[in-house]
Amino acid sequence: MESGEITISRAARQADFPARFQLIAAMNPCPCGYLGHPSGKCHCSGDAVKRYQQRISGPLLDRIDIQVEVAALAPALLSAGADGAASAEIAQRVAQAHQRQLARQGVPNQRLSTRDIDLHCKPDGNAALTLRNAMLHLHWSARAYHRVLKVARTIADLAQSSSITSAHIAEAIQYRRGLREP
Ligand SMILES: [Zn+2]
Repeated sequence: MESGEITISRAARQADFPARFQLIAAMNPCPCGYLGHPSGKCHCSGDAVKRYQQRISGPLLDRIDIQVEVAALAPALLSAGADGAASAEIAQRVAQAHQRQLARQGVPNQRLSTRDIDLHCKPDGNAALTLRNAMLHLHWSARAYHRVLKVARTIADLAQSSSITSAHIAEAIQYRRGLREP
């Protein structure tokens, strides 16, 4: 998942193939799927929820950069049109942020090595403190720490900001708290 390569071994031969991909996945929060739903339909026990969520291993979850809960929509909202910016407008913002990354460091943020993260994703004073606190409270691994920094760098790039501020870090931290506790 991280090397962007896959090695296939058959008998005495071995071959490397490119395998750089973007993983997008969805899961239910509990066995019945209604945990946190306003109807109060979920009666799963705390243990059952925990067991269910633990079916995704920690190390795998650790490698997923953005984890967000998507709450159920009320029927009235479902039939209403989408709000917010149009896709074409967002696509343009994304392309600009991508250009910004290439101009700064030659590769997109996702491809930065740990050493380059220290170089290009330095949070400003308060932001560094916010991140350290979150890391302590949420018991993050070093990998999670570096991944949050890359996401924060991307958020700052989308906002056309050269520095990573507390607001960027706080947003990135929110994107890593997807699993609802039972
Ligand atoms: Zn449930």
